[in-house]
Amino acid sequence: MNIKDLYRQLIMDHYKNPQNKGLIKEDDYITVGVNNPSCGDEIAVQVKINGNIVEDIRHEGTGCSICCASASVASQLLKGKKVSEVNELINLFYDLMKEELPKEKEILLEDAAIFQGVAKFPARIKCATLSWLGIEKAINTNKEED
Ligand code: ZN
Repeated sequence: MNIKDLYRQLIMDHYKNPQNKGLIKEDDYITVGVNNPSCGDEIAVQVKINGNIVEDIRHEGTGCSICCASASVASQLLKGKKVSEVNELINLFYDLMKEELPKEKEILLEDAAIFQGVAKFPARIKCATLSWLGIEKAINTNKEED
């Protein structure tokens, strides 16, 4: 199995078995809705911030395999990290999608590096970044926690 097939397989695994899926009805969760009309992806992401830690990340919605898998991977990678680290990782992911991420930094993105092939398809980049944009928006609505 070559690396491209392996990445495709991992994306399908996350799509079929998403992590942290389903919204929580609690007041301390910040919910942000984001959509990507060009593909029809529509998702909501939720973050729970405790002090300077992103304690929980949830997602829910409908979208293509790339969009849903990316939300799963993002929630898994970013959950439990500091707000500042989360912002940094989100920017690294955007760099990956622009093909501007230095090779040695790929490891910091863990499973999220599986989306690097998507960077070759400009129409699908928005699918991959949608949940990350939502998480970024959600954590930055809470400025005093930063
Ligand atoms: Zn999509």
